[in-house]
Amino acid sequence: MRAAIISDIHGNAHALEQVIADAMSFGSINEIWCVGDIVGYGPDPTACVSELIDSAYLGTRVIAIAGNHDRAATGGLSTSNFNPAAKRAAQWTTDQLDGRAHTYLERLRETEVAGVDDDFTIVHGSPSNPLWAYTTHPEDALDCLFTIATPHCIVGHTHSPSLFEREPGAGGKKFKPDLPLMLPFVAGEVVPMNRGSRYVVNPGSVGQPRDGDPRAAYVLYERHGPDLQTLQLRRVRYDIGEVQARMRAHGLPDVLASRLSFGR
Ligand code: ZN
Repeated sequence: MRAAIISDIHGNAHALEQVIADAMSFGSINEIWCVGDIVGYGPDPTACVSELIDSAYLGTRVIAIAGNHDRAATGGLSTSNFNPAAKRAAQWTTDQLDGRAHTYLERLRETEVAGVDDDFTIVHGSPSNPLWAYTTHPEDALDCLFTIATPHCIVGHTHSPSLFEREPGAGGKKFKPDLPLMLPFVAGEVVPMNRGSRYVVNPGSVGQPRDGDPRAAYVLYERHGPDLQTLQLRRVRYDIGEVQARMRAHGLPDVLASRLSFGR
């Protein structure tokens, strides 16, 4: 079983297309696990939703959850604590969505479970605060693992790829449990998942990376059997200039367009 784990597409259909193409180059993609923020910031929100719906029609199972920007775009969340640029982009996104995309986003839940053995919980921020919390530090990853009912957790929202592992023997004192280890997560390197270990995986952002690498990020998950599961961070080039031109043509805030060049 092969799944593309994608997050924070943010209306960047050019990046999404290249990510799907890269994943398909490994063979068929059985599932897409989408970790939220499909829309917001980028110039093609409806196209991004359509790509997910069409993938489902083409036989790829799509499991998607809502991010804060998806909720904002459908009126399910106030944008009062968004910064001015994000607020303007959110309003523009709401106006752009067609009826089908609006309904699709509105129906997304805040958590889903995925995997052959239902072994992954998918949530945008963190299981205890799905829309807003950032899972950044080992303490946050531990909180994820203590909150969920599955072995592993997939999060997004930070726009920066990360991987945490808590080994089977991990314990520690009641008030000072052993923290998960933050593993190196190097693009193109296949990471085997150790049996019995628990993982927190963040695939980074497809449409607006913030880790200093402007290329689209996602994770390829492969399950060869119960004893061999692997994760691979991928970085994919796309036509950033074209996306920036589309954003400027739509009058979206320039700061949102220019940051794509730097991945910040
Ligand atoms: Zn986001």
